[in-house]
Amino acid sequence: MADKKEKKEEEKGEEKEKKKEIKEISDLPGVGAAAAEKLKDIAIVDLMGVAIADPKELASAGLTGKIALEIIKAAKNALNMGFEPAENIEKRRKKIGKISTGLKSFDDLLDGGYERGVITEVYGAFGSGKTQLGHILAIVAQIEDPKAEIFFIDTENTFRPERIRQIAKGMGLDPDQAMNNIRVARAYNSDHQMLLVEKAEELIANKKHNVRVIIIDSLTSHFRAEYPGMGTLAPRQQKLNKHMHKLLKIADKYNIVVFLTNQVMANPGMMFGDPTTPIGGHIVGHNSTFRIYLRMGKKNSRVAKLIDSPNLPNGETTFYIEEGGLKDV
Ligand code: ADP
Ligand code: MG
Repeated sequence: MADKKEKKEEEKGEEKEKKKEIKEISDLPGVGAAAAEKLKDIAIVDLMGVAIADPKELASAGLTGKIALEIIKAAKNALNMGFEPAENIEKRRKKIGKISTGLKSFDDLLDGGYERGVITEVYGAFGSGKTQLGHILAIVAQIEDPKAEIFFIDTENTFRPERIRQIAKGMGLDPDQAMNNIRVARAYNSDHQMLLVEKAEELIANKKHNVRVIIIDSLTSHFRAEYPGMGTLAPRQQKLNKHMHKLLKIADKYNIVVFLTNQVMANPGMMFGDPTTPIGGHIVGHNSTFRIYLRMGKKNSRVAKLIDSPNLPNGETTFYIEEGGLKDV
């Protein structure tokens, strides 16, 4: 009991420290511009310098006695020096590296969720739930980071504000706020789609938007429609390659989750197993770091299967898509 209380108080204290946002020496309580200047003279130029300083050293900069001790303590706190449970680090790393899918079991399949800095592709038949996963991601990203903005490039005119509101409500997020953080662009053809990605990069680079997720639903529909037949395959693939390279670059540079959906086509050459193959061939496959195959399961459930991940075992998980989000079977 006492331990718990202490821990809570400790956490409260830490929160207070964070609120002050001590980033440099002059942010420390009791250190004015003059004192900061004097500290520089004795080669103490940053918080770490203060944190490891001897109180006597600080005295020579005019910071004496209790004040010196308090300043050193504040610097140590600001730097979060000290021991913390390894579990905290693990949690933090996971949080930095991934955005939840909206369901624990699905997250487990992906070792924590959709990875930042790379491309995740979800492919599957019409009605398998790809667009739903995109909508859900747009909500979860905001729950994890209320300042996160989401760029949604809609190529099939299937973005639905009412679904955003429903899912937000289901997951406990204010629907108006959820809508505010999502920017939608309708792409009218593949050139336009590529242009929108360049525009997105410009807006992100100018820091006009704090974009944490880019969704393209779907990546391939325009390309497929505009380049039918074998004769046009080479130029289509070249263009798709360029498009995906750009997306990968943006993902990597700005630590963004890029989430793409993709359709499937019947594979006439395949005699056994699931006769469906994602559009885009090797180009799309190679540029997608994570590929998830989504299909209908029993009783209206969905089965998500991880395909050829670089660092995770292949596996699958089953869930329901409901009005308020994903639900375990
Ligand atoms: P895809 O993009 O793969 O073609 P969708 O993401 O559009 O497929 O999935 C459509 C399916 O999502 C519907 O058939 C239905 O099962 C489910 N769905 C859509 N809206 C809702 C809702 N409000 N409540 C529950 N399920 C929904
Ligand atoms: Mg769709």
